[in-house]
Amino acid sequence: MKICRFDDNRLGVVEGDNVRDVTDALSVLPAYTYPLPRHDPMIANLPAVIAAINASQGGAVKPLSEVTLLSPVANPGKFVAAPVNYQAHLDEVIADEETFARAHVRKIQETGLFLKATSSMSGAGAPIEIHHPDRRTDHEIELALVIGKTCRDVAPEDALSVIAGYTIGLDITIRGPEERSLRKSLDTYSVLGPWLLTADEFGDPSGRDFVLTVNGEERQKANTSDLIMDVPALIAFASSYYTLYPGDVIYTGNPEGVGPIAPGDKISATINGIGQMVVDVIAQ
Ligand code: MN
Repeated sequence: MKICRFDDNRLGVVEGDNVRDVTDALSVLPAYTYPLPRHDPMIANLPAVIAAINASQGGAVKPLSEVTLLSPVANPGKFVAAPVNYQAHLDEVIADEETFARAHVRKIQETGLFLKATSSMSGAGAPIEIHHPDRRTDHEIELALVIGKTCRDVAPEDALSVIAGYTIGLDITIRGPEERSLRKSLDTYSVLGPWLLTADEFGDPSGRDFVLTVNGEERQKANTSDLIMDVPALIAFASSYYTLYPGDVIYTGNPEGVGPIAPGDKISATINGIGQMVVDVIAQ
């Protein structure tokens, strides 16, 4: 199932080029009181939400082209991200000393993971806003996975069972010497979309082709089989440091072909099996 959030926090199911409004299914969510949970309630209750969607006869249907898509996860607790997780990207980083600070030229096993602020979250229907036009700001396309269960110290062989679904992640990045969490956490620099594809429908996350173009020009083309640390290994590694909660997102890493973006650009990001999203770039 392709589950999206759109317009004024509506819940939808994507069917072909249309979205069916299934917001009523959110009535199965528990009523929360303060303090609110530190996970995403919709993802935490996803099986019940899906059952409610399947039981309903469905609401209004609109063309996808007429709605504004929001991040498919509304309240993620954290964004965990993998740095330099494709060898060909590490090679381009090593070769370009001017663009990539030497402090960041290490393999993921040595660097570990980093966190992006959830306030940087944005959906497919909103533009990326360039905040520091004097700095080089790059696109990065990544397979992003959404955790479905509270878990800790997950074994690699159990890892796929804790995933609720998959989406496309854009990890927008200012190049430079500062900590990644600073350069990658600006408002709108963590795009998720266009929807959540449930894990049962996506299947094995390895072997997925993906491509990013800017204004129609191909910039990045890669396959998740080339991940240095694959999806099960990333979940095992991350969950050995942090408890993972429903709605937490893991950005699995960016391949070769990064390049700058500027106001006026149009980014197209496609992952085989999930779909395509097109995101505009504007000045702040
Ligand atoms: Mn990245």
